[in-house]
Amino acid sequence: MLEMRPTCESCDRDLPPDGEAYICSYECTWCATCRDAFPGRACPNCGGDLQLRPMRVVSSVH
Ligand SMILES: [Zn+2]
Ligand SMILES: [Zn+2]
Repeated sequence: MLEMRPTCESCDRDLPPDGEAYICSYECTWCATCRDAFPGRACPNCGGDLQLRPMRVVSSVH
């Protein structure tokens, strides 16, 4: 299971589980603003590719 970090590691902004956040394969967690500022939009800690963190899944009713 992914650990859902509650804040951006760069600017310490709150990242709610249903908000926009980006993670790399080592689970470094960043807000969209910081991610946009990274060179090549790669993780500044490990150089990994950043992907949109899956939002909390709400079970749907058919
Ligand atoms: Zn940030
Ligand atoms: Zn990383």
